[in-house]
Amino acid sequence: MRRDDDVHALVETVLGDGPGLRKVRAVARLISLVESDSPALREVARALAGRAGRAHIVGLTGSPGVGKSTSTSALVRALRAAGKTVGVLAVDPSSPFSGGALLGDRVRMSEHATDPGVIIRSMASRGHLGGLAAAAPQALRVLDAAGCDVILVETVGVGQSEVEVAGLADTSLVLLAPGMGDGIQAAKAGILEIGDLFCINKADRDGAATTRRELRAMLSLTERPDGAWKPPIVLTVATAGTGIDEVVARLDEHRAYLESSGQGRRRRLARARREIEAIVLGEVTRRFAVTSHGARLDVLAADVLGGGTDPYTAAEAVLDEIAAAAQADEI
Ligand code: GDP
Repeated sequence: MRRDDDVHALVETVLGDGPGLRKVRAVARLISLVESDSPALREVARALAGRAGRAHIVGLTGSPGVGKSTSTSALVRALRAAGKTVGVLAVDPSSPFSGGALLGDRVRMSEHATDPGVIIRSMASRGHLGGLAAAAPQALRVLDAAGCDVILVETVGVGQSEVEVAGLADTSLVLLAPGMGDGIQAAKAGILEIGDLFCINKADRDGAATTRRELRAMLSLTERPDGAWKPPIVLTVATAGTGIDEVVARLDEHRAYLESSGQGRRRRLARARREIEAIVLGEVTRRFAVTSHGARLDVLAADVLGGGTDPYTAAEAVLDEIAAAAQADEI
């Protein structure tokens, strides 16, 4: 481990008062540790226990090209103007590359690059054993502990993980744009259920009112209990910043709703459960890979193919073997 990877020194800097370049660097370093599945990951997690939970985590989802990146940048500007410190976590669930390379491409964010009140990080999760579900919450915790008032989580790249990313957030902001057939896509992708707030971006283009109408009609079909949050629809032109202040106001309202209804705690509990589950599954995979069971899997696979057994029985056998090995302290 390099000298500057002294986890406790890094965590101390992250927890220190006020924003600053040192803090930004320490956050970057800790997120890299988290992302690379470093052995220091546990130490980071332990040191941060109880130090997060203050930030409002907002997930942005939507088809590529809909304006997520432009909207993120516009939101950062609006939140900064309101005196809030902001974290941005750009997650690329499909890419093994991350950090500088990806960030370098995100030129639209460069106006915030020198603002110590904004911490922007990107992370990939493909190489992470627990996947996005295990890696991203740790990165969010780092940003949260660093004192970010709001953390925007944005998916970059194309992936099937939109719903998964929404699961990381307190508030899910779903972006649509006129003329992209987004209404139907949203219904298909299950995005109607996850959206707490919908933005129809590119409202400077024809068809925004139609898209809003269609979306309203679709949302009205979703059953919601009495007193439940009704997702508002905001028209935005992210490139001009139009509607962004309203988005910020709605995000604040949703946050207040989460607190007053108890829904926020329920979401956070569900998130912690998923996180533990992802770590367990990742750990099982890891243990499985480092023991002789890897070859065992080949044997079982051949057996399934040959009709000697079925995949469920084979899986049961594997789980039994892992349990037995754990008991014998082999792994
Ligand atoms: P992402 O892939 O969802 O992150 O989308 P981007 O933010 O990269 O935006 C895709 C393209 O749409 C870029 O060329 C933006 O300049 C453009 N764009 C974003 N928001 C608007 C908008 O409100 N109106 C118009 N006309 N173009 C926009």
